[in-house]
Amino acid sequence: MASARFCHLCGRPLGDTGAIDDRTFRHRDWPPGLALHLCADCAAHKPRCLACGLPGAVPGLCETCRQTGQFCLTCGRKTRRRVTIGHSGPYCADCARDRPRCDVCGLPVANGRRPLADGRLTCAACEATAVHDPGEAQAIFRAAEAAIGRQLGLSLGVPTGLLLVGRDELLAVMRELGQEPDGAADTLGAYTRRGRRRGIYVLSGLPRLLLLQVAAHEWAHAWQMENAPLLRDPIWREGFAEWVAYGLLRARGETEAAERMLAREDVYGDGLRHLLQLEAQMGAPGVIDWLRHAR
Ligand SMILES: [Zn+2]
Ligand SMILES: [Zn+2]
Ligand SMILES: [Zn+2]
Ligand SMILES: [Zn+2]
Ligand SMILES: [Zn+2]
Repeated sequence: MASARFCHLCGRPLGDTGAIDDRTFRHRDWPPGLALHLCADCAAHKPRCLACGLPGAVPGLCETCRQTGQFCLTCGRKTRRRVTIGHSGPYCADCARDRPRCDVCGLPVANGRRPLADGRLTCAACEATAVHDPGEAQAIFRAAEAAIGRQLGLSLGVPTGLLLVGRDELLAVMRELGQEPDGAADTLGAYTRRGRRRGIYVLSGLPRLLLLQVAAHEWAHAWQMENAPLLRDPIWREGFAEWVAYGLLRARGETEAAERMLAREDVYGDGLRHLLQLEAQMGAPGVIDWLRHAR
């Protein structure tokens, strides 16, 4: 490959000012000639692959090492006995057994990760796109709302905002609603219209894509309260909210995240599968019309 003109990680021009040095990295598994050209800043500060040491955009393993399937995703050690957790892996037996789990994704956390302000522990992959800024969360929420409007023709009569909250605050909101959360890790958002607490509450620090999914789910509950207030059956209530979020992920090409929703073995997964069956029979407009009159 001829010498690159731009840093492969940040796109900064290379070599045309004295201030920026270019650095070249090669992976031992790459064909000859293939190389990563980086600016001095990226070479010094980007996270390194746990297995081969190559700088990359995200922490953990580089794409090449990940694809070999030979290295533990948490510690980067080459591992013979490979453990899979959910759809994720491989992990070495030590990490699967001994490492603390991320409070967001449930996967083993490598050393040295800071807990969130409210005491939650988060892994490097979740932290890489975590949303802590209320303005950024609001923008993601508005984007979800606009996409739901375009895809399903739904809108809210009363504008509803999204608030980022810590875990304790979210649990307090849920207790107020009379919903005892079954496991804190599963409790990512809530919708309430009781008293002055009217709005959508979502945990701060969720990865961007998960925030989008949770925001769409809670937005769907808000729509439900306005348009199908008598709907009580949790299979239909949660199923509808998941169906809206699932459709949004699919439309954005986020197949992996959508598949994870579909694979759940609880009221969310059951409900989603019910709604998809209904959609296959009557189409999306039929589902929405049916729901308006369901109890
Ligand atoms: Zn760079
Ligand atoms: Zn690597
Ligand atoms: Zn490991
Ligand atoms: Zn995580
Ligand atoms: Zn729900």
